[in-house]
Amino acid sequence: MSMNTQGRPTSAGETGTAAAHPTFTGNKALQIEEALIFEIGRPEVSGVDIPEPKKVKSRLGKLARDEAIGLPGLTEPEAMRHYVRLSQKNFGIDTGLFPLGSCTMKHNARLNEKMARLPGFGDVHPLQPVSTVQGALQLIDTLAHYLKELTGMPAVAMSPKAGAHGELAGMMAIKAALEAKGEGHRKIVLVPESAHGTNPATAALIGFEVRSVPAQADGTVHVSDVKAALGPEVAAIMLTNPNTCGIFEKEIVQIAKAIHDAGAYFYCDGANFNAIVGKARPGDLGVDAMHINLHKTFSTPHGGGGPGSGPVVLSERLAAFVPYPFIRVGKGYALVEEGGKLAKGEQPFGRMSAFHGQMGMFVRAMAYMLSHGADGMRLASEDAVLNANYIRASLADLMSLPFGDQPCMHEALFDDDWLKNTGVSTLDFAKAMIDEGYHPMTMYFPLVVHGAMLIEPTESESKASLDLFIAALRDLAMAAKRGDVDRFKGAPYHAPRRRLDETRAARTPILRWTKPAPYAEAAE
Ligand SMILES: *Cc1c(COP(=O)(O)O)cnc(C)c1O
Repeated sequence: MSMNTQGRPTSAGETGTAAAHPTFTGNKALQIEEALIFEIGRPEVSGVDIPEPKKVKSRLGKLARDEAIGLPGLTEPEAMRHYVRLSQKNFGIDTGLFPLGSCTMKHNARLNEKMARLPGFGDVHPLQPVSTVQGALQLIDTLAHYLKELTGMPAVAMSPKAGAHGELAGMMAIKAALEAKGEGHRKIVLVPESAHGTNPATAALIGFEVRSVPAQADGTVHVSDVKAALGPEVAAIMLTNPNTCGIFEKEIVQIAKAIHDAGAYFYCDGANFNAIVGKARPGDLGVDAMHINLHKTFSTPHGGGGPGSGPVVLSERLAAFVPYPFIRVGKGYALVEEGGKLAKGEQPFGRMSAFHGQMGMFVRAMAYMLSHGADGMRLASEDAVLNANYIRASLADLMSLPFGDQPCMHEALFDDDWLKNTGVSTLDFAKAMIDEGYHPMTMYFPLVVHGAMLIEPTESESKASLDLFIAALRDLAMAAKRGDVDRFKGAPYHAPRRRLDETRAARTPILRWTKPAPYAEAAE
């Protein structure tokens, strides 16, 4: 009988495989197959007793519906089971180690959830009179102050709702600043080859032309390459630091100077701020605008499309262009909206969203900052970098590093050179990780690295959990090198669903549900 690392048997005996014993229900032991609510619901069923409505004369005439609306009905226990089972299918950082790189899956302490649910924060409405939400505005203003302090920047726009939205706000501020100087002809934005796709997309969306800058063999952008690309048409550079290869851009100060000398602006993608909080301030490095993904750096683990929050900090050169609405502190807290009284020099470029930003995220970020303190936030960055380097150093003898054996920041990047001639691809390796109970790392990004595997453990993982993760990856890596291709090609073997045809799902999605056939008798 084979044993797992904890010495527990991995199979109940050698009497056959799961596939040889399909179940009638499709359930796998206590892992229940959950159908769509439309499949299990019946329109005639309801979890509550609703009294028969009084007869009223319809004023809809011919427009009145003459059939039942067809909504799926469930009994109360069925409704409870349905949603509890769905919640159990979710994999998050509360379930296990989530090594997605470039995304910082942050531990979100329950304290932060408790704070976000305080009625004074959880129940506020964005249309409430300002006099009734003074505390909420004070929180936004205080958080803005902390963000400016941590980044060394004089201004911040709080309303962007995600990193990409913050990028857009920052680049719109740059565009407004150029136009105010009569330099609207500057149309080119420099973007390194390793950039996140949102960078060139943002620049293109507001009419800039994207020109790429190469990275050198050490994985960083060199100032000489930036200088070669500069000219009177260049509006800005968009650079990520630490970059998407997990490496600190060593020439960042020289790059900033070259950009400014050429009359352009320096946009920094701040998604990787988690690696440097309390250690380096982007303002000191010469950055003009940088979004902060609150959901990557200050709690609120993200995924599944939200929620996010992407405040963008701005330098002195861009501070005047902060979009509406913004908070003005006087006797109390006021919101400056379109048509409001502006102070000398203020020229907001417009607005990014209907209201003031993501209140729930603001509260969580604030709770995170207050509970950690300045020393705790610095320690979190140090631990994030330490954990990533522990992983890098523990796997470097088996897996290949594209930029040599140099220290990384908060994520370790491997390529697929070590998988050459094994018959196993990065994708296969990732699928086999699912069998081991790990969400795969970020794969095939950054694009500049062949078969990239970008692993970010985050700071909150204990040494014990990192050691088990490393042992699992080493076991897989050795299996791949041994030629145990079967372990990979069919993986995941133990997941409720195996390999999905993701390309076909994306290209020909089936968006309409059709009623399935009734249950077949087992005997048939
Ligand atoms: C996540 C990320 C973004 C975009 O942020 P969203 O909040 O997902 O919109 C941009 N750049 C990098 C490097 C990122 O990791």
